[in-house]
Amino acid sequence: MPTSICPECDEEVYVDADIEQGDQVNCDECHAGLVVVGLDPIELDLKDEADESFADDDDYGSSNYEDERF
Ligand SMILES: [Zn+2]
Repeated sequence: MPTSICPECDEEVYVDADIEQGDQVNCDECHAGLVVVGLDPIELDLKDEADESFADDDDYGSSNYEDERF
């Protein structure tokens, strides 16, 4: 079973042998949601960071800018 390194906790994460780019896995160690961004070698990225922080930035963007200006 191939492994990669969790970007969150730097522990080995086991992934399916037939995993594909864009597949999602969970780190056994820190339970972070990870997405496969590369296959040779297998590279993992935090799913939450890619997805939710973008959405959050949009949601809070306008109010944050107002605060910074003030
Ligand atoms: Zn982890």
